[in-house]
Amino acid sequence: MKLIGPFAQIITMDKLPLKGSINDNMLHIIYDGGIIIDNEKIEALGSYDELYTQAKNNKAIIEHIEGQQIVLPGFIDAHTHICWAGSRINDYAQRLEGKTYVEIAKQGGGIWSTVHSTREADLITLEEITARHANQMLRDGITTIEVKSGYGLTVNDELKMLRAINNAKTKAQLIPTCLAAHICPKDFNGSANEYLNMLVEKLLPQVKTEKLAKRIDIFVDDAAFGIDEARTYLQKARGLGFDLLVHGDQFSTGGGKLAVENEALSADHLEVSDEETIQDLARSNTVAVALPGASIGLGLPFAPARKLLNAGACVAIASDWNPGSAPMGHLLAQASIIGAYEKLNIAETLAAITARAAMALKLNHCGILKIGYTADIAAFSTNDYREIIYRQGKLSPSAVWKRGIRIEI
Ligand SMILES: [Zn+2]
Repeated sequence: MKLIGPFAQIITMDKLPLKGSINDNMLHIIYDGGIIIDNEKIEALGSYDELYTQAKNNKAIIEHIEGQQIVLPGFIDAHTHICWAGSRINDYAQRLEGKTYVEIAKQGGGIWSTVHSTREADLITLEEITARHANQMLRDGITTIEVKSGYGLTVNDELKMLRAINNAKTKAQLIPTCLAAHICPKDFNGSANEYLNMLVEKLLPQVKTEKLAKRIDIFVDDAAFGIDEARTYLQKARGLGFDLLVHGDQFSTGGGKLAVENEALSADHLEVSDEETIQDLARSNTVAVALPGASIGLGLPFAPARKLLNAGACVAIASDWNPGSAPMGHLLAQASIIGAYEKLNIAETLAAITARAAMALKLNHCGILKIGYTADIAAFSTNDYREIIYRQGKLSPSAVWKRGIRIEI
């Protein structure tokens, strides 16, 4: 057992509704607080002075915090592609010269070039790359990270990616997702529909047998998979017991609605979602995941996060860190920036990378500082939590604890 503190403010993110607009006054804040951790979990939260007496009586370790610091739950990034090899600097440079994402993809750049490099890389290399990215995120206060496959696009290469994600040596918690339905690979001998059928017959059963992922994702777009073929894939994957996610409404509409129709855990992107889709998402339990990193990387408008919240949707914000469209990989900066453009208040922005991001991942042990929850915690040197968003990502954590263990940063 150990006590950490004192903290000027503990922002618990507890007792907030998971859907719709909220405001800063609704945040539950413990002033001059401490946290008792036992066996990786939060045992008590409250006044530091009172917990100090309790800790002393129990001969607990006291991890004394110097100076003015505030703490929040460790952040959760609900959508990343951090397992990749190669670089897409050329794509980026071409986009800056005026070529579109779709044009570059059609010319053999885009996702396909990352597929090529990732297929060439061996398992150990991919494990190391994934761990390096995850550890960088951990230093930014992100203690839980969703990671997608989707750059292999053959049975063996997708399995290699998922094994690399599962094996990556990092203290961050990685949540693997099978995104073999990222695009139909150029070298597949058959139609997009036949490719998806092949995944259902050959890949997904193996993913299940090896317990490599519980979630599948599909990119629904004019440049990837159509609505009808995606619907069939989603239904078959559900039949095999997978949770469903959809990359939708990034360039063309239909994916967001399809996600709701199939009770997907989340619909991610949504930059071009129409009013009807926003209302559908608001009525559903599908989390709307905004990916500002892709908007910044591509120089395109943000997802309509304000409208989604006003309508009553659950909105999470994730980095979409990938080598092509979202190369920055800095969740806090991106969440702060979409907050400024979309007029999200600080509570909404913080909830989108903690408690509401946990909902997108169907996790009920993190994203909130609460008794019984995992002690995933990020501390910042300030006496006002609002400074974290005000500094737009420039204020980095002073300390991070994963399962109660302080990470070297
Ligand atoms: Zn993505």
